[in-house]
Amino acid sequence: MNDATATDSRIRSIVIVGGGTAGWMTAAALANRFKQSVTKITLVESVEIGIIGVGEATVPYIKEFLQDLNVNEVDFMRATKATYKLGIDFDGWYKPGEKFIHPFAGYGARIARIPFHHYWAKMRMQKKAQALDAYCLAVQMARHNKFALPKANNDLELSSFNYAFHFDAGLFAHYLSGIAQTLGVKRIQANVKQVNQCPDSGFIRSLGLDTGEIIEGEFFIDCSGFNGLLIEQTLKTGYENWNQWLRCDRAVAMPCTSELTPASATRSLAMEAGWQWRIPLQHRVGNGYVYCSDFISDDIAAEKLRENLEGGALADPKFIRFTTGMRKKAWNKNVFCVGLASGFMEPLESTSIYLIQSSLALLLNHFPNKQYNQTLIDTVNSNLRTRQEKLRDFLILHYHANQRHGQKFWDECRHMSIPETLAVRIDHFKKTCQPQVDELDFFGTNSWLAMFSGFNIQPDYYHPVVDDFDEQDVERELANINQKILNTVAQLPTHKEFIQKNITNMEVTPKI
Ligand code: FAD
Repeated sequence: MNDATATDSRIRSIVIVGGGTAGWMTAAALANRFKQSVTKITLVESVEIGIIGVGEATVPYIKEFLQDLNVNEVDFMRATKATYKLGIDFDGWYKPGEKFIHPFAGYGARIARIPFHHYWAKMRMQKKAQALDAYCLAVQMARHNKFALPKANNDLELSSFNYAFHFDAGLFAHYLSGIAQTLGVKRIQANVKQVNQCPDSGFIRSLGLDTGEIIEGEFFIDCSGFNGLLIEQTLKTGYENWNQWLRCDRAVAMPCTSELTPASATRSLAMEAGWQWRIPLQHRVGNGYVYCSDFISDDIAAEKLRENLEGGALADPKFIRFTTGMRKKAWNKNVFCVGLASGFMEPLESTSIYLIQSSLALLLNHFPNKQYNQTLIDTVNSNLRTRQEKLRDFLILHYHANQRHGQKFWDECRHMSIPETLAVRIDHFKKTCQPQVDELDFFGTNSWLAMFSGFNIQPDYYHPVVDDFDEQDVERELANINQKILNTVAQLPTHKEFIQKNITNMEVTPKI
């Protein structure tokens, strides 16, 4: 052994358990970062157990993940039967019959360097402004089932917007597995039957497979889904339960044929004991009812979902049980968990795939060597905890702020006590007209504004500069912005036309 080898403490073998969205995203991201000649990456997945197969709506951050892998967006959209997503259309959440959209976009335009929403807040108090939705191009595009890429048209600059995707979860995992294997990841198809630990440290040393094979590793990534095979079943890390605030604990999913023009936003429809998602793909529509089992039975939930399908059912109902919350530590000893093994909040704002991505980004920036420096581990765990608590608060607001009086589930949600951190955010907005966000918040100012406005939580303050402007001029300016948006939207192709022209009819470009 020469000196260099003796002091080399780099991790040489990483083992990933699980081949769902989390497993293959992890495999692709790690293989893209490490030289396969130095660090061997192995992924074990059980075809028998399968993947959860839901998780089809994303947030714009996913594009960075794909760009890092040099993925061509058109190629990716074809392979995963994807459509575009401009935001989420919340139907009946505030009150039955009332809608608002949470867009990946900003509102209006700054006037005298003061954000638009201060002008809007003043005019709204006087009932001289429409709902915030009227001043957002992306919202109006989604309302009219239109789509164009940002900057495709100069008028779009009126209100900046971003986009994400709806895709087929099974095809996404398959697509990533192709990339990861091309980058050198070794895939083993087997069930993990035994986990072998070091008797002194408790660190995991190897996995025993049902094929008889023993897989040794230095670092293990647990992507085994709700099972939490390594992080929980083996290391007993513990789970923090958030069910007191995020009351839904089950979902029933049922894809159907697509009969309407695909929407350019995810549909989220408030239901008696939860909510229903509708996610349009190129070849089908993904549907599910997320509900609280204290308020509705599985059979009735499935029946209600079936009644609401826009096309013919393509499969039997698939029931999924979950407990909202987070793993107490994402990183414990030489195990890091990603995806459902690390916890689950709610599919409401498509935060799970975002969390997979941000967990991987954090891990890659704080990657250990064989010494497993505890400061690295604590830093990553604490950062992930903060991020998740912030997401949790954003989700709780959706339930807490409802005005669906007379429906037991919703009445209970409205009256529940909320985390202090959320109460402070609401109060801060009311007093300052400015959402309180920092660098660990995934949902920024515009997202919180969308929620506050959608749930009619109004500030009682606006920036005093607003009063320097003649009120009629401001009213006219707001009307102009709205009109300009509507004129722009009228000229855009429908979402369906855009996909037909740019995705389904083009030649596949080779991957870089
Ligand atoms: P899984 O897909 O369950 O994969 C687990 C893997 O581990 C499988 O390959 C399995 O075979 C393997 N495995 C388990 N045990 C063993 C073993 N003993 N041996 C070998 N292999 C094993 N997220 C979003 O971002 N957007 C959404 O719209 C969204 N909607 C959702 C709707 C619902 C109802 C639910 C429950 C989740 C939703 N999610 C959503 C979350 C999303 O589905 C998951 O984050 C994502 O699919 C990742 O899952 P996973 O890979 O962690 O787990």
